[in-house]
Amino acid sequence: MQDGDGDEETRAIRAGVAQLCSRFDGAYWRTCDRQRAYPQAFVEALTQAGYLAALIPEEYGGSSLGLVHAAAILEEIHKSGGNSAACHAQMYIMGTILRHGSTAQKRRWLPQIAGGEVRLQAFGVTEPTSGTDTLSLRTTAVREGDRYRVNGQKVWTSRAEHSDLMLLLARTSSREEVEKRDEGLSTFIVDMREARGNGLTIRPIRTMINHSTTEIFFDDLEVPADNLVGEEGKGFRYVLDGMNAERVLIAAECVGDARWFIETAVKYACERVVFGRPIGANQGVQFPIAKAYSQTEAAALMVRKAAMAFDSGQSIGPAANMAKYLAAEASWAAGEACLQTHGGFGFAEDYDVERKWRETRLYQVAPVSTNMILSYLGQHVLGLPRSY
Ligand SMILES: Cc1cc2nc3c(=O)[nH]c(=O)nc-3n(C[C@H](O)[C@H](O)[C@H](O)COP(=O)(O)OP(=O)(O)OC[C@H]3O[C@@H](n4cnc5c(N)ncnc54)[C@H](O)[C@@H]3O)c2cc1C
Repeated sequence: MQDGDGDEETRAIRAGVAQLCSRFDGAYWRTCDRQRAYPQAFVEALTQAGYLAALIPEEYGGSSLGLVHAAAILEEIHKSGGNSAACHAQMYIMGTILRHGSTAQKRRWLPQIAGGEVRLQAFGVTEPTSGTDTLSLRTTAVREGDRYRVNGQKVWTSRAEHSDLMLLLARTSSREEVEKRDEGLSTFIVDMREARGNGLTIRPIRTMINHSTTEIFFDDLEVPADNLVGEEGKGFRYVLDGMNAERVLIAAECVGDARWFIETAVKYACERVVFGRPIGANQGVQFPIAKAYSQTEAAALMVRKAAMAFDSGQSIGPAANMAKYLAAEASWAAGEACLQTHGGFGFAEDYDVERKWRETRLYQVAPVSTNMILSYLGQHVLGLPRSY
């Protein structure tokens, strides 16, 4: 048990998730990784146990839990040696529908998502030409009567092949037509089951980790106007709320990774004997692990602070960004310490260290890169001059 494990309810959730994860050991994740296979059995178990519906209100079939609890769920998965990238998006994408969707949309989709009949796992924001500069995205959605016609391309749309629904951010007004840069974008719920082959093409991208990510192409895809979330032109603001929640949840995953690395490194450092003594007796081995441990505990506190602020309705831009930054740094430091402690065996697949090391590297880049967080803090929190 660590400091910041939370109240009794959160500790019970952690225990339940840890028990579920014990059925999915290193061998399971290694096999998925080698085959670049979607961890179907794990996602089904998590769905059936209700964990992916944690944030959905009870009236729509979920558990009405908070971001604090959702963060604890994802942290435990990563601490167990697993990875929640196959399904975590449901937790933060759904927030846009919860907060900005119509009652009809919530009634239609949320109970099906909570029950596991429908997966909302795909989030179509990033484009090949705009990258981090989301406000420059070019995919268009043009209103024609009771439908929108969508044309363009997204990249890094993870889980698109394993999701029934996608939350799409597309341009409904050109940049010249809007007064403020963050206007003119709209969010849509795209039913991928109807769309595939009817204007939507999905192509997988093979990456250094098992992430089921893709590029997707829209060629005159028709989306019913009823699937517009909230008001036309306000979509960027809607997804920003969700992005802050996403940063906190990803930070929780980093804390989980860091805890796995530290526990694994400590165990190995105590067992491995070289020059007649455990390698952990050498301060050159001990100190990087101890340093990563301190970083991890500090990051965990910031994650908890940000999640609690979100749950009490406060705006969490600075806290969410700092939590993501600190936790991604901590997990990377812990990953480095763990790999180095294992020496050559750190490179052997059977130890899981190299897999987790590859996986945790992603968080320096996605969902938001370290540079972007620092420039946000520099400009918006510290009042330094704008850099872009
Ligand atoms: C495995 C994976 C899964 C992903 N899943 C999704 C998903 O499901 N949905 C989705 O929409 N997106 C997804 N992404 C996209 C991810 O959010 C972007 O990759 C990320 O935001 C960075 O964008 P980019 O790759 O275009 O980098 P770029 O914007 O091209 O930036 C490249 C580098 O330059 C740096 N940089 C750029 N501008 C500046 C500046 N002004 N100052 C300092 N540094 C700068 C960046 O920090 C970065 O390190 C995923 C990415 C990966 C790799």
